[in-house]
Amino acid sequence: MRLSRYFLPVLKETPSEAQIVSHRLMLRAGMIKQSSAGIYSWLPLGFKVLKNIEKIVHEEQVRAGHIPMLMPTLQSADLWKESGRYDAYGPEMLRIRDRQDRDMLYGPTNEEMITDIFRSRVSSYKDLPLTLYHIQWKFRDEIRPRFGVMRGREFLMKDGYNFDLTKEDALHAYNRHLVSYLRTYERMGLQAIPMRADSGPIGGDDTHEFLVLADTGESEVFYDAEITDLKFGKREIDYDSVEACQAVLEEFTSRYARTDETHDEALFNEVPEERRRVARGIEVGQIFYFGTKYSDAMNATVQGPDGKPVAVHMGSHGIGVSRLLGAIIEASHDDKGIIWPEGVTPFHVGIVNLKSGDAEADAACEALYDSFTKLGLEPLYDDRNERAGGKFATMDLIGLPWRITVGPRGLKNGIVELTSRRTGESEELPPEEAVAKVAAIYANL
Ligand code: ATP
Ligand code: MG
Repeated sequence: MRLSRYFLPVLKETPSEAQIVSHRLMLRAGMIKQSSAGIYSWLPLGFKVLKNIEKIVHEEQVRAGHIPMLMPTLQSADLWKESGRYDAYGPEMLRIRDRQDRDMLYGPTNEEMITDIFRSRVSSYKDLPLTLYHIQWKFRDEIRPRFGVMRGREFLMKDGYNFDLTKEDALHAYNRHLVSYLRTYERMGLQAIPMRADSGPIGGDDTHEFLVLADTGESEVFYDAEITDLKFGKREIDYDSVEACQAVLEEFTSRYARTDETHDEALFNEVPEERRRVARGIEVGQIFYFGTKYSDAMNATVQGPDGKPVAVHMGSHGIGVSRLLGAIIEASHDDKGIIWPEGVTPFHVGIVNLKSGDAEADAACEALYDSFTKLGLEPLYDDRNERAGGKFATMDLIGLPWRITVGPRGLKNGIVELTSRRTGESEELPPEEAVAKVAAIYANL
């Protein structure tokens, strides 16, 4: 993409309505525009990152054997009356009446709808296990939408639902989700710690929230510092193996890590004092096992091996896809702007032309642009006729992890400058070598 042709409405002033750094930076970098409280338009740069995050979530769900689909945003109230949640959900649910006077709602989550799909299309235990998921917009009429996309009213969520014959099978689905989430967040450059949590209105026995540590997080968290040394990395886990998933669960959940809702001071005090941490965290996902709560209420049974109907064991598993943008920025920025992890960056590399209009500099930039494009990478080329300082400030603000600076002086010696946004370190090298170096970084992700 050439910046002269792109739509990147960066703001010079710091927007006064934004209280936290990720919200400020998303506005300043031209990623989002509020359309009403807690509802945002995703401008091209923000949309690109949102799509990248979505893609990682999809890939990791499919890797775990979960099946993508799509349910609508608008739901009939009937199913919610059946489950008993139509009244229980309260004013967070946006209720709508259509022209036929039917009660509708903008879905805050999809347990009822997926249970209805299941009961109408699955009749035998032979079709289990089954985990279906979608990535779809949700609406919750939050009392206090704030912090930009972190607590929106309309937000994008991945929500997955498992259907299993037995509790053991459903707990395996739970563990599988936990493993897939660890991999998902790490690919985004995030450390998200699974913490024992409270099940809230979804109801259920087993639940973990995934929290990214950040001072601006809304949850107070208590944990054993050892937990932050754990890395999932690129481990290839056999998701069908009960033992393999169980082992990961034990590794990542055996140390003390809880939100304030489930915090137990006595247990916490058993952690050696120098390892006890009290901090704040951003909830970027949550997994639940809730047994037969919905299948009982909505009569979702399958024919078991003995021919008798059995209520299926279920769980639901969410990732806050749009909230993740805010969480990633909270975890990765400096005073100049965003620092995107390579896994989610909107463009792979920025090209800054120090002297647009200079024939040699223009040609060198075009050649770099072509080389990256041919390699399947997306450069953002600042070809505008602007001062170098302004170009650097824009690149730093929007946070591309790598920048190549091209100017007539360097070109005389056959070199360009490659700069890491994270460390600020630069090196001078021939253009082909700069391309090869950047390409190798992305190839190794
Ligand atoms: P919270 O406690 O933050 O209100 P929740 O526990 O009600 O969230 P879940 O039902 O677990 O949310 O939804 C799954 C994920 O969706 C959450 O872990 C969070 O990342 C994201 N999410 C929930 N509410 C919002 C919101 N208002 N804006 C953006 N993302 C949200
Ligand atoms: Mg939650």
